[in-house]
Amino acid sequence: MYAIKIELKLNNKERILMRKHSGYARFVYNYGLALTQELYFVGVRGSITKQINEIKKVFTGYTKKQPENQWMNQLSSKVYQRAFMDLGQAYQRWAKGLSGKPAFKSKKDGDSFTVYDSNGKVLALSGKKIRIPTLGIFRLKEELPCSYVTQTFTISRQAEKWYVSCAVDAEKIPPTYHPQEAVGIDLGVKCFCTLSDGSQIEAPKFYKQAKTKLAKAQWQNRNKQSGNRRQGVKQSNRAKKFYDSIAKKHARSSNQRKDFLHKTTTDISRKFYRIRIEDLNVSGMLANRKLSSAISDLGFYEFRRQLIYKSEFFRTKVEVIDRWYPSSKLCSLCGSKHDNLKLSDRVYQCQNKSCLAHTITMDRDLNAAYNLLNAPPDFVRLAQSEVTLVDKK
Ligand SMILES: [Zn+2]
Repeated sequence: MYAIKIELKLNNKERILMRKHSGYARFVYNYGLALTQELYFVGVRGSITKQINEIKKVFTGYTKKQPENQWMNQLSSKVYQRAFMDLGQAYQRWAKGLSGKPAFKSKKDGDSFTVYDSNGKVLALSGKKIRIPTLGIFRLKEELPCSYVTQTFTISRQAEKWYVSCAVDAEKIPPTYHPQEAVGIDLGVKCFCTLSDGSQIEAPKFYKQAKTKLAKAQWQNRNKQSGNRRQGVKQSNRAKKFYDSIAKKHARSSNQRKDFLHKTTTDISRKFYRIRIEDLNVSGMLANRKLSSAISDLGFYEFRRQLIYKSEFFRTKVEVIDRWYPSSKLCSLCGSKHDNLKLSDRVYQCQNKSCLAHTITMDRDLNAAYNLLNAPPDFVRLAQSEVTLVDKK
């Protein structure tokens, strides 16, 4: 079993619905906990499961019917059922010494609740929408790459983002067919990435444009009174408006970049089984300020992170080539090394006069992509996910 976790794309109404259900789950959990504690206090001992079952009957037969609790009837019944189950499990974990005594939940603990479909497993279809039993259909930020069979849907909030995660059986995931066996990918500033099959993916221009506009706006408004709490200077209304608009522009371009990266990494993961990319030379790249800004804008780290976590979905193998492997300096035809290659050289010309690449020049990035594809085993390691959306259970 493992869980897939994907961000939900909610509107205000849906967000309120999720918050209400989180509150409901918390209410029921605390209600059950208070009653079990009371039972213990008056001397009732014995199976906690039986106690919770009795408490559940009181809840549905009495508490839920009280006029002040009418709001509960508009919410999903799957949520309170699951909250009682959670309480039972918390007691069991405590009994086994796996965790502390069940404690009351507060708003501060964050929002989360689980919909458990007791009728059996349901199918979550691939695509950009998900049907959560008894709650409805919701949009997803990223599409489900294939259909899953699942029984639990946990909805949770991190900062202002809402996620849905489902526990899925690994065996039930349909095998993915990759039309091509392997690819080497060279990342670059001029062209976002060059694949060893000859295709090139251009860096998104809109992002660069957005950045230029942003820099311009910031310069034009450089004298705005930005406010300083320590000195008791209040932010002017115009400044507030300006900073809000900057924040919006930032969010817009970062979303565009994310969309681009998601699309690119999904396409690559669909097409190839073995994906070889170069390790990112952090210190070397950061030494050049212009280059480092361009690189962080393009999101190479994000690109790699996505390829790695998507390898779970698509059953791909992502391999990282050691950064000491001179992928851009070697000739992919004869293997000789070119030591005087400049960063500005866009084509690769082999120094070996008897090599074909001496007379016919190659695209520099394509040459590097070939080398990554054919890197010797000593330089290759399987990529490990650093931050992952796939939690193994
Ligand atoms: Zn050569």
